[in-house]
Amino acid sequence: MSMNSAVFDYIIVGSGMGGSAAAYALTKVGKRVLLLEAGGMIQRDEKDWNGLEILVKGRYKSDRPIAIKQYDQKSYQPQGQEEVLGGKTMFYGGACFRLRENDFASWDLSYDDFSSWYSHAEALLEVHGEKLGDPHMPSMQSDYPYRPSTLAAPSRRIVEAAKALGLQPFRIPMAINTSNQKRPLCIACNTCDGFPCKLEAKNEAVTCFLRRADQDLLHIETEFIVDTIECEGKQAVGVRGFAKRKKKFEHYRADRVIVCAGAIDSAALLLRSKVHDVSGQLGRNLMRHCNSVVGCLFPYQTNPTNVFHKQVAISDLYEQDRAQSGLAAGVIQDIYMPPKEVLPYFVPFGIKNITKLLRGYIQNLLCITEDQALASNRVEVAADKNQYGMYNTRVTHQYLQSDIARNKILVKAAKRILRKAGGLGFMVRKIDSFSHAVGTARFGQDARTSVLDLDCRLHGYDNIFVLDGSFMPTSAGVNPSLTIAANALRVCHQLEGYQA
Ligand SMILES: Cc1cc2nc3c(=O)[nH]c(=O)nc-3n(C[C@H](O)[C@H](O)[C@H](O)COP(=O)(O)OP(=O)(O)OC[C@H]3O[C@@H](n4cnc5c(N)ncnc54)[C@H](O)[C@@H]3O)c2cc1C
Ligand code: SF4
Repeated sequence: MSMNSAVFDYIIVGSGMGGSAAAYALTKVGKRVLLLEAGGMIQRDEKDWNGLEILVKGRYKSDRPIAIKQYDQKSYQPQGQEEVLGGKTMFYGGACFRLRENDFASWDLSYDDFSSWYSHAEALLEVHGEKLGDPHMPSMQSDYPYRPSTLAAPSRRIVEAAKALGLQPFRIPMAINTSNQKRPLCIACNTCDGFPCKLEAKNEAVTCFLRRADQDLLHIETEFIVDTIECEGKQAVGVRGFAKRKKKFEHYRADRVIVCAGAIDSAALLLRSKVHDVSGQLGRNLMRHCNSVVGCLFPYQTNPTNVFHKQVAISDLYEQDRAQSGLAAGVIQDIYMPPKEVLPYFVPFGIKNITKLLRGYIQNLLCITEDQALASNRVEVAADKNQYGMYNTRVTHQYLQSDIARNKILVKAAKRILRKAGGLGFMVRKIDSFSHAVGTARFGQDARTSVLDLDCRLHGYDNIFVLDGSFMPTSAGVNPSLTIAANALRVCHQLEGYQA
């Protein structure tokens, strides 16, 4: 065990959307930041666009799988999470939505508190979109920094069918570079959602935040797994973790610690550190959206040129369930068909070969629905330890029937759109990953019901903050990344006067 002598202004644990945005902003106001990341660097080589390597072998999956019990399973099953510099953003689809004004109804801050930070996050992530078009778009002072790319044939098919049904399809605001000539441009390769971008044309955390941070003030330590935050009373003094390359535990010290390990790992880290949580909510209220993919068989090849087409969304039904549940029914989004070689690993045994054969004739729509925050959906520290001598993490998650019913509103509409486009038959697949995990350390004014205050500081502690998706009290009906980035930038303004 060794103690590093340097004392940083901030230690940030985890380099995903929240951690990298905070590292960027804090170095811009002159703070010395140590960013500790459990994963290594992305390779950006041929294997990064190989379905078997990324989706099946899990090239960048953690060697500390989380034990997960979901969907009425009787036992906990191991599931690896993405672990690399840049976090899940390296694999994300780049859809950068703002939450809608109604989504803030149960939050202690309003859309107006986030609005300018959304604009700033959109500028940094170089989002391509259209202000007009989305019928539920909240008020925006200016338009997106870049115009969307040209519509690909599969997206045009969805637009035409949706319009024929009286819906209002619009362009997904995308953090993918099709315009900025100073950076590598997207070649629409169709191994994007779920894959890293070999060309750096995806606007993720490394490209947009870490590369642009003040490099003299940012020290990045990869392959360093933080085990615990070390406290003296209600004050953090540093962290203890395992340096994988050196194969030993080390300590780092800083004036403030920001936890950004993702909604599952951040809660686990705080629980392992035995922080005092007055509310009893730490680790609870884990949300991940209630998502499903509607696959539809067409009598012709749906994407013969195998082009990227995450381009179009439909939000007409967003408020459809608000009066009943208070939650968003959500959005339907265009989504790609996974490569042929990986399909046998993801479809039921009986239809493996037929799916492989018919792959070229299928088109998908993704239905993203808000899920209810429940205290029983939670992250816990398990009783056993991993190969590093750290306690394992355990997750229990169960949807309510009302979540599934809300998602069915979108599934039904997605089927109508696909049928109108000429589709013949459907297969609906639920999503079992925690790619949209949020909510395990929700923020709020009242320390009896929330884990963090409105500056995302752990209630009762001076200098511990959580700036990833954990802070969100509800999941809303759109993808979470832009909100996570906007919130991290907002809090850096609150703490250190960072300006957009
Ligand atoms: C395939 C896929 C597609 C997606 N598509 C979209 C999309 O289109 N739009 C959208 O908005 N969102 C999308 N998402 C979700 C989005 O990527 C996440 O919401 C976002 O990255 C979460 O940011 P975060 O800061 O909460 O944490 P993460 O991005 O999860 O980052 C957490 C980081 O902490 C590190 N870490 C964990 N534990 C430790 C530890 N103990 N010590 C040190 N480091 C640690 C992890 O390795 C990771 O790098 C997608 C995700 C996936 C996987
Ligand atoms: S679609 Fe574009 S941004 Fe995505 S991986 Fe391919 S080249 Fe990169």
